[in-house]
Amino acid sequence: MTVTMIEPSGEIQSFLSQKHKLLIGGKRVDAINGEIFEVQNPANNSVIAYAPKGGEEDINRAVQAARDAFENGPWGKFTVSERGKLLWKLADLIETLTEEFAQLETLDNGKPLTISRAADIPLTVDHFRYYAGLATKIHGETLDISVPYAPGASFFDFTLREPIGVIGQIIPWNFPLLMAAWKLGVALAAGNCVVLKPAEQTPLTALRLADLFAEAGFPDGVVNIVTGLPEAGAALSSHGGVDKVAFTGSTEVGHEIVKASAGNLKRVSLELGGKSPSIVFPDANLDVAAAGVAGAIFFNHGQCCCAGSRLLVHKNVYDELIGRVSEQANKIKLGPGMHPETEMGPLVSIEQKNRVLDFINSGKKEGAKILTGGDSPSGDMSSGCYVNPTVFEKIQPNMEIVQAEIFGPVLVAAPFEDLDEIITRSNDTNYGLAASVWTNDINKAHKVARGLKAGTVWVNCHNIFDANAPFGGYKQSGYGREMGVHALESYTQIKNVIIQLH
Ligand code: NAP
Ligand code: MG
Repeated sequence: MTVTMIEPSGEIQSFLSQKHKLLIGGKRVDAINGEIFEVQNPANNSVIAYAPKGGEEDINRAVQAARDAFENGPWGKFTVSERGKLLWKLADLIETLTEEFAQLETLDNGKPLTISRAADIPLTVDHFRYYAGLATKIHGETLDISVPYAPGASFFDFTLREPIGVIGQIIPWNFPLLMAAWKLGVALAAGNCVVLKPAEQTPLTALRLADLFAEAGFPDGVVNIVTGLPEAGAALSSHGGVDKVAFTGSTEVGHEIVKASAGNLKRVSLELGGKSPSIVFPDANLDVAAAGVAGAIFFNHGQCCCAGSRLLVHKNVYDELIGRVSEQANKIKLGPGMHPETEMGPLVSIEQKNRVLDFINSGKKEGAKILTGGDSPSGDMSSGCYVNPTVFEKIQPNMEIVQAEIFGPVLVAAPFEDLDEIITRSNDTNYGLAASVWTNDINKAHKVARGLKAGTVWVNCHNIFDANAPFGGYKQSGYGREMGVHALESYTQIKNVIIQLH
């Protein structure tokens, strides 16, 4: 029996054909200039919708609405329990619409529907529920102070952990709805108001999410969503009325965000690129390691900031392991995300496909050897943004494919000899987002985990995420942490109150 493509449901079709609008101050509005931009399905590059092209004036309106909601609206008077309830309600609403969100995500981003259904949407729901619970656990502290120059005086010192205010949030296209959740959950739990700018390649699930805030009970202006091009992001990050900007995306744009934030010294948190190593020791379970390191790079088509894009394997098992990884890469079923048997969909856009192919060509030119892949599929798939899973070996440390974040299904592999060498080599990059270590020796695992300059170290696994586990970068992979209680640090500010007792 041939398995056929899943056709978008009636609800999806009607959503796609809607005239989409920004969410500003609780109202759905057109961009001030009335402009729109095309939204494409990367499986065949067809135009599936049009999104409003919000610009600087729309950002100004949205920031004003967020400011009004923060300073004057009912939001500031909500109890932490009420804030938690709204986040929980939002999670429930998204969960009810899981299939619709999953299909939209797949049509917009290209990832397999099986993944959108099993990972992106459930993780989003779980994330909002986590922060629903955390809203009631934010607290200050009481401090004993001595004040040596006031002998005999008595003081009571306590801290309040308060929201920062208006937060600008700029997100990428690799996990569109989930990245919105990572940003919104903590910001709202902590009592802030938000202007969210989704990536231009993938605005659809954010536009659908915009329908739900009022129903969940959020007052107008607490969440504002402005779709648009980079100008909208630039206007948000430089806006004098924004108290903090949170950005996930390329390290290059991360630098721009920091510069743009200088005008009003707004707080900044950055979750940027990576070139994360997967390190395999000879004592690892090679079945587990081969499947694990292949998943580390090929999951989400390599479009993960923490993708295991550098494979370092002990020389004794190098040939066997890269043989197995290449074999797995070869077997991955490429196809449209809406096909139930697809294991890897197209990359997000034609630009991303060309960018990844340029990196592959650079690797070829610099003399690296291709073990598998190295091109894009021909035939039916040539009209989509597909790139074949690719494994390079015979690489040199200074090659572009070894240093740059490719953000596609491209793995570079090399052997190593001993433990001290592997720590130095793993850290030999400007990035420091993540790493995985594959070993059955607990001593090695601990030693390497401590030696790595990376915000997350996985042992015998990769790409494991949980709302309670902090995530973020060392070095040029960014600063600040997302998720867990740790994310509250960058979404709250501490007020110290000192009372003299008479
Ligand atoms: P990007 O330009 O960094 O985009 C990320 C977000 O920033 C998008 O919402 C984007 O808006 C916005 N943006 C772009 N220029 C801006 C500016 N000057 N000021 C404020 N916001 C701005 O990433 P990309 O161009 O889509 O992808 C390029 C490469 O970035 C990828 O190949 C990959 O290497 C890396 N990347 C990394 C991550 C990650 O999670 N670490 C995520 C995505 C991409 P527009 O969508 O309108 O451009
Ligand atoms: Mg861009």
